[in-house]
Amino acid sequence: MNSTSFTVSAIGHISTPFRQKFAIPRQSSLARAKGVITLTPEFTSDAVFKGLDGFSHLWLLFMFHETLPRGWKPAVKAPRLGGNDTLGVFATRSTHRPNGIGMSLVENCGWDQQQGQLRLHVAGVDLLDQTPIIDIKPYLNYADSRDNANDPLASYVPIPDRDVTFCKSTIPALKEALTRYPDFESLTKNILSQDPRPAYRQHHDNDDKTYKVMLYTYDISWQVRDGTVEVTALVSIAD
Ligand code: SAH
Repeated sequence: MNSTSFTVSAIGHISTPFRQKFAIPRQSSLARAKGVITLTPEFTSDAVFKGLDGFSHLWLLFMFHETLPRGWKPAVKAPRLGGNDTLGVFATRSTHRPNGIGMSLVENCGWDQQQGQLRLHVAGVDLLDQTPIIDIKPYLNYADSRDNANDPLASYVPIPDRDVTFCKSTIPALKEALTRYPDFESLTKNILSQDPRPAYRQHHDNDDKTYKVMLYTYDISWQVRDGTVEVTALVSIAD
């Protein structure tokens, strides 16, 4: 073992409603999506979770596994700066980082054991389905929160809050989706109200283009008309 190169392995994988990167909110608190982390089989003892119940929030450290093969860039275009302005990678939460490690603050919804495997339930995730988790730590309010913190991005491009409606033709599929995923409607509205179009389109209140996002096992087609997001088609895809 030397001090410049390390091996890190996944302690588990998380299942989330997000099967593709498009439309995953930019930060965990912006998505009310639920996730379940299944620890790898080497973690057989629930001793690893002793005391965890007392913490309302947890930090997840994970690998940006889907973007890892593309390497990293020293400067990154920051969509929230609107145009072509760049920031240094260490001044962003970009996925294209030297070690491809992400961190998200999530709600702790408790743990259980299923067929011998330890599972941790969390909420407010911004992670792709099957993202490898490399560590879990409790969020410590006294240490991890600062009242006087400055964030130069905070004032840029407010997060849109659009109304979301489902077209009549999508209602039967919506009802079916709700039987499988009780939070399907609220999550779809939560994600689409933030208008996941590219930043340069977000101020267009009418847009001819039909966009698609995938949540759970559904393809959702949507358009922006008169400022409202309309779900125009909902199609179940194979698991
Ligand atoms: N809260 C994290 C992530 C911020 S970037 C952090 O600050 O480190 C958020 C984006 O990460 C999402 O929009 C999603 O597109 C992307 N993402 C989530 N899981 C990923 C994964 N496994 N591989 C690559 N990108 C991922």
